[in-house]
Amino acid sequence: MYELTTIVDFEAAHRLADYPGKCNRLHGHNWKVEVTVAGEELDNLGMLIDFRVLKQEVNKVIETLDHYYLNEIEPFRTVNPTAENIAKYIYGELNNHLADRGIAVKLVKVWESSHSAAVYQEG
Ligand SMILES: [Zn+2]
Repeated sequence: MYELTTIVDFEAAHRLADYPGKCNRLHGHNWKVEVTVAGEELDNLGMLIDFRVLKQEVNKVIETLDHYYLNEIEPFRTVNPTAENIAKYIYGELNNHLADRGIAVKLVKVWESSHSAAVYQEG
């Protein structure tokens, strides 16, 4: 089993509905997203997936979040845009993008500050 990790950043605003504190108010973060993918087979270059291609696929998902007010876009109109739920969203979308390459997303870690991160993984 091979694993690759890449990190991308995006900026977005959110508010946490029903949160009993200041995160209830509109504010922004510079989010950092760590993505780890895994697979068994290397290509003839000895790569699981080219980092450049992996980053392109991650960025396709990140573009759906970057510089948005997350509460106004799907799926966060009805799901609170916490770091946990953002990680799960990225995990699902990226898995769809990578499925036909024989590569699975292992985990997505979303940092909302330099000290606070949430991980989503399955299995
Ligand atoms: Zn926040």
